[in-house]
Amino acid sequence: MYPRRMTLDESLLRSAREAGARWVDGQHRAELAKADYHHTIRRLHVMGASLREIAEALNISHQRVHQIIEATGGTEGWQPHKRATGTLACTFCDQPKDAVANLIAGPGVCICDRCVTSAQRILADPRSPETDRTRLEPAITTSKTRCSFCRKRARDVTSLIAGPGVHICDRCLQLCEEIIIEEARPR
Ligand SMILES: [Zn+2]
Ligand SMILES: [Zn+2]
Repeated sequence: MYPRRMTLDESLLRSAREAGARWVDGQHRAELAKADYHHTIRRLHVMGASLREIAEALNISHQRVHQIIEATGGTEGWQPHKRATGTLACTFCDQPKDAVANLIAGPGVCICDRCVTSAQRILADPRSPETDRTRLEPAITTSKTRCSFCRKRARDVTSLIAGPGVHICDRCLQLCEEIIIEEARPR
């Protein structure tokens, strides 16, 4: 009975659609900016800055920095890798620091950029282990197997890659990749 369509003002409707689209887009951008903010804060910490230094520099609370770092995956119990010194070599392939583009040091273990790439490839396709440079393959785990970087047990991680006497989990690999990307950025 009611002439409903007559009550919809076409130009207002168009404005509503446009505003709605802008809003969705704005929310999406805000989410991206937030993720960027959080990941950059985590990287600052991974690169060696303390929670307090970050909090003071960004004018946010220590507690907030801690929450953000935990929410973005934490630092997996790593020591900031900048503290590693001495003559280092990749624990997986034995290449010395000078012979590789990046060498990322965890607690008493190191992994080079090529082994990170190989390990990521094996995660994606566990049927093709690396055997050319060194032996990298999906780990055969026991209850005692741990990631050599974050020390998490095999049952607490999604995947573990094994090298000669050393293991790395998927999340530590992800972190290594982020560090490599970070270091490759022009400053
Ligand atoms: Zn290596
Ligand atoms: Zn790990």
